[in-house]
Amino acid sequence: MCKAIFLDRDGVLIDNQQYYYVWKSDQMKFVDGVFENLQLLQENGFLLFIVSNQGGISRGLYSKEDILKLHDELIQTFRKNKITITDILFCPHHSDNEKCLCRKPEPLMVEKLIARYNIDKAESAMIGDNESDMIAASGAGISGIKIEANQNMLPFISKLLQ
Ligand SMILES: [Mg+2]
Ligand SMILES: [Zn+2]
Repeated sequence: MCKAIFLDRDGVLIDNQQYYYVWKSDQMKFVDGVFENLQLLQENGFLLFIVSNQGGISRGLYSKEDILKLHDELIQTFRKNKITITDILFCPHHSDNEKCLCRKPEPLMVEKLIARYNIDKAESAMIGDNESDMIAASGAGISGIKIEANQNMLPFISKLLQ
């Protein structure tokens, strides 16, 4: 079994102060310390996943294809910085428009990844900047670490590092 870190995207990896919805590469600004911090988590034996609500798709602001393309670029940028993102799941729905089982605070996206990659829940955690991330974590049976939005996460993850 592997241990894993489930990362929220916006406010945790990508700075969303200027653009609340980030769907184009020129809007993609990384939060301070992200590359170093993910490298540290990886060196400590964690697989890295991204789990993101993308309600802007349901709102018609951008398409699923836009997000898939952006996530390809995201994975390439991380790869250039020696970081492997094992998988990314996103929910394209919005609670204003439809009901779904995947949008955080629902735990389904995290549960899917736990099952698909045989993740050890006791050793794993979700890192997010929102209460909905914490509810999704506890719903999936893993611990939640709430960080300050768009801030270097290092002070919050030191417990995870040897
Ligand atoms: Mg967030
Ligand atoms: Zn959904």
